[in-house]
Amino acid sequence: MIAVECTISFLEQSGLFNAGRGANRQLDGVQRMDASIMEGARLKAGAVASIEGIVHPITAARLVMEDTNHVLLAGPPATRFAQHYQLEPLPRMRSPRRSSGRSRRAAGAAAQMMRLYRAMLKSKRTQKGQHGTVGAVALDQSGTVAAGASTGGIDSMLPGRVGDSPLIGCGVYADNQSGAVSMTGIGEGIIRLAIAKTICDRLAMGKSPAVAAQQVLRMLVSRIRGSAGALVLSPDGRFAVRHVTPHMAAGWWNGTGRPTVRGQFP
Ligand code: ASP
Repeated sequence: MIAVECTISFLEQSGLFNAGRGANRQLDGVQRMDASIMEGARLKAGAVASIEGIVHPITAARLVMEDTNHVLLAGPPATRFAQHYQLEPLPRMRSPRRSSGRSRRAAGAAAQMMRLYRAMLKSKRTQKGQHGTVGAVALDQSGTVAAGASTGGIDSMLPGRVGDSPLIGCGVYADNQSGAVSMTGIGEGIIRLAIAKTICDRLAMGKSPAVAAQQVLRMLVSRIRGSAGALVLSPDGRFAVRHVTPHMAAGWWNGTGRPTVRGQFP
């Protein structure tokens, strides 16, 4: 659990990925981030959705898990929850869309939404499908698995859009009786097939991490033309990284020696 939070924190802090400091902006110019974390011994989980203005949504997710009776906090109350714990704030950046005179003079909410829809449709035509969500899975010496993910979402999101990453069973799942999964990719497809839990169910049926991931990702493509990548770890330490995107950067470390990092997996 600590390894998952620390790894994701490090990546959020770097600004190099679509999470934390580097999070995408939604079409109104605001960064709204999603994150979740889960541990497999007691199936405890915490998540935040549409959180704003903090560097480490993954820590907010862990605090939801540890300090509340809930699993998911969303929107401004999630942001206030993080502020209550004095989590590191993101530096205030002037948002071109938010601060422009044009947006101040916007004729009203309906006109604003129409512009956003038009922008979304336009950029959908030119979308390159780049992903940069960060995620991690880990196994500790007691045999407990954990998984987490943190993201700024996808390109061209309407304000308020929430992806798979804060949804337990979709972007993340961990159960000592099956394994741990963390997803990246287009959240809308991942949600519709509850991919993380579906992969865990196949692990529980005895499939290897590689086979379970491959089968479910193939199903994602064939059923709904989805696009995703998965980190999959079984409680006996076998793991696989599989993707149906052209690339997926991932690394692993078995506790000794140097870690391995690659940009593509079979
Ligand atoms: N899965 C994330 C989302 O849909 C995006 C990503 O993984 O790049 O919000």
